[in-house]
Parts: sequence; C-alpha cells; structure tokens
Amino acid sequence: MESFSPPFCACASCIHHQPHPSSPYCAYVPWGSYTTKAFGRVPRYRCTACGATFSRQTFRVDYYAKRILSYQDIIQRLSSCESLSAIGRAVGASTDTISNRISRAARQALALSADLSAFMHPDEDVVADGFESFCRSQYFPNNITLLVGSSSQYVYAADHVTLRRKGRMTDQQKKRRIKLEAQWKPQPRGIEKSFSRIAYEALRVYVQGKRPMLTLWTDEHQSYTLALARSPHLSLLIQQGLIRHRMVSSRAARTKKNPLFPVNYLDRELRKDLHEHARETVCFGRNVNRQMERLSVYLYWHNMMKSHRAREGPRNNIEYASNKAAGSERGWKQLWALRAWRTLTELSDSMVKTWERLWMTPLTEKRDYLPWYALM
Ligand SMILES: [Zn+2]
Repeated sequence: MESFSPPFCACASCIHHQPHPSSPYCAYVPWGSYTTKAFGRVPRYRCTACGATFSRQTFRVDYYAKRILSYQDIIQRLSSCESLSAIGRAVGASTDTISNRISRAARQALALSADLSAFMHPDEDVVADGFESFCRSQYFPNNITLLVGSSSQYVYAADHVTLRRKGRMTDQQKKRRIKLEAQWKPQPRGIEKSFSRIAYEALRVYVQGKRPMLTLWTDEHQSYTLALARSPHLSLLIQQGLIRHRMVSSRAARTKKNPLFPVNYLDRELRKDLHEHARETVCFGRNVNRQMERLSVYLYWHNMMKSHRAREGPRNNIEYASNKAAGSERGWKQLWALRAWRTLTELSDSMVKTWERLWMTPLTEKRDYLPWYALM
C-alpha cells in the first residue's frame, strides 16, 4: 500500500491549510477508512486543530472520479490532433469522461504554470500575437493572444476574446449575423482588453527576468499600442526605455529571422496539433471554457513535454526559458501526485477565467458548471 501523509489540512480557514516545507503538517489523527472500486481502501483523517475531516481522495487529481485513466496518455493524444471521441474510443471511455479528465489536467497545468512563473528568471525578450480561431460557430470568431519567449518558445500566457465576424459575407450571412447579434454580442474593444491582460504578463516576465530591458515584439495591430498606452505601469516603463515595444508588419516573410517567428511557429503548431483549430474541421470548439482548458493542457505539453526542436535533443521549452531547469526543481514531473488547490494557487486574470470557467460562450447566458471541489 502507498505511504501517504496529508500535506496540509483540507479546510481553507484552518491555520494548517498553507503547507510549510520546513515544518510538515502533523496535526491530524487517522479517522477510519472506506473502500472504493477504483482506489481500494481509502484512509480518512481528522485535523486536530479545526476538526475538519478529509481523506486520501481529497488530495488526488482524481478526486470524485470513478476510473483511473492516464493523464499523460490523454494529453499526448489531445496534442497529436486526436478528437475527443477518438481519444475516448482509444482508451475505452466516453467523451464526457475525456472532457472531465482534460478539465482536471488543465487545472493542474495552470497551477504548475503559475507556480513556475514565480520561480523562473527568464533571460529573453517576448513576442505576443493573436491566434485566430472560432468557438460555437463561424459567426463567432475569436482571438487567442499568446505571449511567447523569443528564444525559448515557452508560452508565458494565453488569453481569449470573442470577436465580431467581419470580412466578406453573402447577404444571407449578413442577415444571419444580425439575427445572432440580437441574442449575443461580443464585448467592444475586445482585442485591446485581452492584450492588456497579456501585456501585464509581459510586465511580470520583465520583473522576474534577468534583463535590465525587455523588448515586446508584436505586429502593427492598433489595439496593442492603445492597450500599452492606457496602462499606467507599462506606459511609464516604455517612457523610461525599460520596456521597448517593437512592431513588425504581419505581411513580413514568416521566416526564422522574423522577430515574430515564435508566435508564427506556434500558430502553425496549434493548427497542426489541436484538432479543433485545424482548418475546415468538424470538431470545432462548442464552449469557450472547454476550449481554453484544452489549450492550457496543450500549452503544458508544448512547454514541458515536447522537445524544443525535434533534432536538438530532449531539452524542452521550459528548460530553455529557465536556465536553472526550474521545471524539474519545482517537481513538475510529479504533477499528477497531488491535486492543485485553488485556495493555494495565485493565478493571473486569464488563468482565473479558465480555472473557474468564467469565459462567456456566445449565445449562452448561464455560467458553466464547475464542480465544487475545483474551488477548494
Ligand atoms: Zn485543520
């Protein structure tokens, strides 16, 4: 049987909720056990400080799950352009079960990424750009803005915004758009608001990083300049020359020499690796929160699992972004051993929206269901 000691008390208001690596939690007593089909005997515990009871399951990524499936396998398949139903068929589970595991994996990935951002000391510039896709229907295109390391290709942040459908349309399509917009309208200045969240994450890279000056590369989208000018912190740092905003025409050749190469590369990878973003797919995203969960899982795969370059050995992007291999120091290889706790994880605004399923899906008014334990 595995040896397990609760790392902290499960009650958020208890003085023993915050784990202290120097003084392990020991204010608990065994409190019986119960048996489940999937996990066998599950020991229970009671906190002697607050009286809360909890079990081994409370700390598992598979809390409340009835079946054990390999997260690494699901992530590998999802990131190899397999649709949810194809993954379900391969592992013998329903698409709902696969979606459920992807949501759990997304929270683990978000917590890891947030944890790493506090410990990484990047020594590189950053590039930001929007990746265009859609969710629910082609009448609701979206922009997924990514903040990527110039040399590591590590993705520091991702944000989402639903846009108004533009471009050439037939008369019938125009009528349909008017009808749909009467029911649901994207927020105005969406790209600017989304980019200001990304720019804030660029500021975090600057503060945590080793460079006295940081260059943020983007294309010439007007909303980017506006977002930077409207941020008091960023505009001051730009004025002082500590952060430089450099723009490249989006029409410039998409070669390796182009400073936007890291985002152009990711753009291509996302279309190739995530089924819902492939052109003309029938497996497109139907729900923004689910789409962002899948993206978070994919970015975990991109940052931590896959090699930086196929021909350059096994080093992955996190190792390029953090020369001290912060990833392994923070124990990302044991990612599935302990459930990530919302109460113990400090997240960026975009991450909160994904974790708590606060993104709005076009044509829906009700908030998405979130299991109560995801807020624990
Ligand atoms: Zn307690």
